[in-house]
Amino acid sequence: MSGTAAEYSNPDLLRVLLVEDNQSDAELTLHALRNGGGFNVSAEVTQTAEEFTHQVQTNRYDIVLADYNLPQWTGMDALRVLRSQDLDIPMILVTGSLGEERAVECLKQGATDYVLKDRLTRLPASVRRALEETRLRQEHAESEKELARKVEELARSNADLEQFAYVASHDLQEPLRMVASYTQLLAKRYKGRLDADADQFIAYAVDGANRMQSLIRDLLTYSRVNRAEKAMIETSSETALERALVNLQGAIKDSGAVVSHGPLPMVAADPSQLVQLFQNLVSNAIKYRGAEVPRIRISAAEGSKGESVFSVADNGLGIAPQYFEKIFLMFQRLHGREEFPGTGIGLTISKKIVERHGGRIWVESEPGKGSVFHFTLSPKREK
Ligand code: ADP
Repeated sequence: MSGTAAEYSNPDLLRVLLVEDNQSDAELTLHALRNGGGFNVSAEVTQTAEEFTHQVQTNRYDIVLADYNLPQWTGMDALRVLRSQDLDIPMILVTGSLGEERAVECLKQGATDYVLKDRLTRLPASVRRALEETRLRQEHAESEKELARKVEELARSNADLEQFAYVASHDLQEPLRMVASYTQLLAKRYKGRLDADADQFIAYAVDGANRMQSLIRDLLTYSRVNRAEKAMIETSSETALERALVNLQGAIKDSGAVVSHGPLPMVAADPSQLVQLFQNLVSNAIKYRGAEVPRIRISAAEGSKGESVFSVADNGLGIAPQYFEKIFLMFQRLHGREEFPGTGIGLTISKKIVERHGGRIWVESEPGKGSVFHFTLSPKREK
């Protein structure tokens, strides 16, 4: 907490600025606070707008107590001065009779309370409440500021990380291409011409280089999701799915997968990212299949807020509930490389794409029975 009234105020001392032209009224007010309320009061009395402005500019006050009717100005003018100086000091009207309507109007304009001069015993409680409200308000404003600062910091460190991932994966591609192509060349030219150990070492090197290429390619795809400049446009999700299926036709044919879909809506999306999203989910549905022929069904329904909820359902291996969150994290895989090839980035990319579109992605599954991946997209542009 910094710069708040709570920090600067001496808890034993109540610094009061009185706006009052009647000396004995001023004394009665202070008496009510000191004797009736037990406050240790330090007070200044002002009578004109100029004096008041000067005082609030040069001193710190915990509270302003203002008479409503002064010869040249009213207590409400004092409130305007506080506002124009951007000062969060509570103000209570301490006044002679004030009609109901006028009282309501003053409270509406920002006076914290009003106390009638013939009811000054009420004043201490009113002051305490005003101080407490101000303290809470300032604490709230302070924590909001802190939160906004943290969000900004997080966004910046995320952007830095993304930039790093992008540059690293982008710049690693070229040297890696060299390593991969020369190890492949070695394998081609010298297989069987050196000893058995050498053949095996070269095979390991080729395999390592290939895996690294897949990792770097996927990392680059990941770090490009938020770099895409493309605006969200009205996009047919059905066309996007069909494009994804064309890209996957080799895997579909090899596995004999049966892919079907219901009517799919128009959504606000970056079309190429939507293709990629379907492609990731359908290719996983094919890859993590069980003994049966893969059956994959894509459908969409309307959610409670008008969003489209898509489902990609398969009859594959399924996922145990304890992994429902984990599989969306970078490099997290439930299967060994020998069993199923992969980098563990596909679902991380899918999540990032969905979140860039303002949606959510999650999975429902039962091991041995298949999985359903759901994600939401908005029908209209969010931003
Ligand atoms: P990858 O497929 O490269 O391993 P993903 O991020 O796409 O990476 O998936 C992470 C893990 O989630 C996979 O390794 C797999 O264990 C599990 N998984 C993803 N999709 C499915 C699915 N449809 N059925 C069963 N398991 C899945």
